[in-house]
Amino acid sequence: MESQGKEKVIPYKFIPDKEGTVTTIDGEKYLLVNDAMYTFYQRSIGELSPLFLAIRDEKKILGCKCTKCGIVRVPPVVTHCPDCNFAPSELVEVGQVGTMLSTPPITYFANALFLDKAPFGRGRVTLKGADTALSVMLYTTTGILTPGIIKKGTEVKVIFRDNRIGEIIDIYCVPTAELTKEQIAKKGLQESELNWEAPQEPKFPKASDKDVAKCLKKMQALAAEMSKSKRARKAIEGRQRDIAVKTKGGEFAMFIDNGDFRVEEKKLKSPDFIMACEDPKVLLDGLMYKGAITDSVILKKLWLSKNAEFNTIFKLDRLARFLAREQKEKSAK
Ligand SMILES: [Zn+2]
Repeated sequence: MESQGKEKVIPYKFIPDKEGTVTTIDGEKYLLVNDAMYTFYQRSIGELSPLFLAIRDEKKILGCKCTKCGIVRVPPVVTHCPDCNFAPSELVEVGQVGTMLSTPPITYFANALFLDKAPFGRGRVTLKGADTALSVMLYTTTGILTPGIIKKGTEVKVIFRDNRIGEIIDIYCVPTAELTKEQIAKKGLQESELNWEAPQEPKFPKASDKDVAKCLKKMQALAAEMSKSKRARKAIEGRQRDIAVKTKGGEFAMFIDNGDFRVEEKKLKSPDFIMACEDPKVLLDGLMYKGAITDSVILKKLWLSKNAEFNTIFKLDRLARFLAREQKEKSAK
């Protein structure tokens, strides 16, 4: 049963089934039984409570200003300034536009806690009116987040998630270059106010479609094998995506349909997302298990129109890996 209404501290998908599993070690079977030990606890946000309450309820970012030297620290980590013989500090609101202090690294493969947030950048931004930098998550509205979109010195703006619970992930930043003047000026800009549906698709020079036709045939043959492979089917179980693939030699479509995988010479009117790669061989190699498709995304050889669909690319890599493994086992027999 899925959770109804309120979200839980432990999402339902992380709660194990009642029956256990059997594992084999050195040819012996062992039974593993799922059990539970409850260790819920409450932790106080303490002196940082005003910061998180302001983010949650007022869509404001607070800092603390020293009453003596005037330094503004964000987040408001001290009530008394260590540089001024512990003079008291007061809470002040700071701006919601700032500059990246350094080039943020990007996390593509996150742990279970942040799986649904990846890929994301993580870096420090100095907001207007602040003297220290706040650590934030970073996104782009232009499609997949790749290195170079947000760099040291890039101007970014704080975006508030629609559903805020009083945690630092209630906010993230996007480059102001992707926003309208009104959006940049607006305080408490929410993610639902951004345009996520107009990613910037890369343009390729036209080429002969001979190579594409060849690649397409090979991909179709691979896809047919994948759809027959019990193991490969498992990699895309429960997932359904219509993907438009654009290359320099033309456009085609990939369909992931709960275990079935098809490649067709077809233009999709309303795909779930778009993949664009100048050379279709990048995809073919990936499906043949010659290099990961996820690597091609990170290396900017393959562009995605939706950031979160990196997850689907991860599934395609598994599809290729599982088929390769099954074929290896068959040939060994
Ligand atoms: Zn001070």
